[in-house]
Amino acid sequence: MKSSQGKMENKWNFQGNGELKVAPAITIRGVLTMMMQNLNTDDQRPVIPLGHGDPSAFPCFRTAVCAEDAIVDSVRSGKFNCYSPSVGILPARRAVADYLSNDLPYELSPDDVYLTIGCTQAIEVVLAGISLINPVANILLPRPGFPFYDTRAACSNLEVRCYDLLPEKGWEVDLEALEALADENTVAMVIINPGNPCGNVYTSQHLKKIAETARKLGIVVIADEVYDHLTFANNPFVPMGTYGSIAPVLTLGSISKRWLVPGWRLGWLVTCDPNAFLQNSGLMKSIKGCLDVAPDAPTFIQAAIPQIIENTKQDFFLKTVEMLRSAADICFDKLNEIPCIMCPSKPEGSMFVMVKLNFSLLDDISDDVEFSLKLAKEESVIVLPGVTVGLKNWLRITFACDHLSLQDGLGRIKAFCERHAKKQ
Ligand SMILES: *Cc1c(COP(=O)(O)O)cnc(C)c1O
Repeated sequence: MKSSQGKMENKWNFQGNGELKVAPAITIRGVLTMMMQNLNTDDQRPVIPLGHGDPSAFPCFRTAVCAEDAIVDSVRSGKFNCYSPSVGILPARRAVADYLSNDLPYELSPDDVYLTIGCTQAIEVVLAGISLINPVANILLPRPGFPFYDTRAACSNLEVRCYDLLPEKGWEVDLEALEALADENTVAMVIINPGNPCGNVYTSQHLKKIAETARKLGIVVIADEVYDHLTFANNPFVPMGTYGSIAPVLTLGSISKRWLVPGWRLGWLVTCDPNAFLQNSGLMKSIKGCLDVAPDAPTFIQAAIPQIIENTKQDFFLKTVEMLRSAADICFDKLNEIPCIMCPSKPEGSMFVMVKLNFSLLDDISDDVEFSLKLAKEESVIVLPGVTVGLKNWLRITFACDHLSLQDGLGRIKAFCERHAKKQ
């Protein structure tokens, strides 16, 4: 087809019919890529990555040797080169059921466990499953939160309503506001505990209140516990499933964070529902349907799971938690020395802290994105602008890196803030 200028008309220039629902600007990866592109290549100093949560790049955060051995044994056995059933292989499902039951007041069965490609795919199938039972369904997400939920919901045309976490209350859920957001089409609420991006850990009492609210509203609690047991302050990790008898809980998790192997891509979706509220529900049928059409977690990784869980010693977990505890201390102390950065609470779990920027003390920086871009350019330090996780003019800082790099990075942030401080 020729246009009036005689040029070939480009029929392939698909533009869609509106705003893109998945654009790099609204994913953590997209924003971090933008920060990396803004680095000054003449800076001889190493780049300090305080933006994303993958400590496996640091030698001090290497996984347990027995976990590596389990993978090698699994491959060498030659028995796991086959396809997996869509729910996962039985020994691995049983191992995960037993692992999670250790912290619950009831026993999970292997049939409660569905193995997925990391926690990421567990999120995908749950949100897709919800969107397919009801075209006007909605879910309640925390703000600040983990943007993958928003983006993934958009891919499924699933309506999202955000409820606030309260910084002055240790980032607890604003339950009153949450109740006001819900209606008859609300299917579920998501909590992330231990928290990303806030580094908070919920008390048992708060989790119980969440369960009671979910019961009142007749909704499911989706508990993202990918940072399970990574806690290092007063509140121990309590699984949401503890209150599964009050309201049904779908627990999402993986070995990515606790075992420091996000590249192994092994996660789970688990029904913590001792009263079988969900047993014959359309929701579970829909989620299982989605699992059937989704790719499966690699069979040889699944096959290594029983050994990984059984053989990893407490020493390994304690070492990781100790390292995170001291990193959180360093981070909190150093950040408190910087006048334009306000840190509402010391991180108690996961690998992150949220801090608020005070622009009245800064001269030539007007928002969190500009702060992060200039910091990357001038100091070769990467942090995540808060707008990415739903809180404009905050920053998410990761402390899961080796202590020397962390101190170096925080020192550079301090120097940056001093250089840009408003002159009195
Ligand atoms: C890292 C992370 C995930 C994804 O976990 P994978 O097992 O690596 O897929 C999910 N939710 C939260 C809150 C995370 O921080």
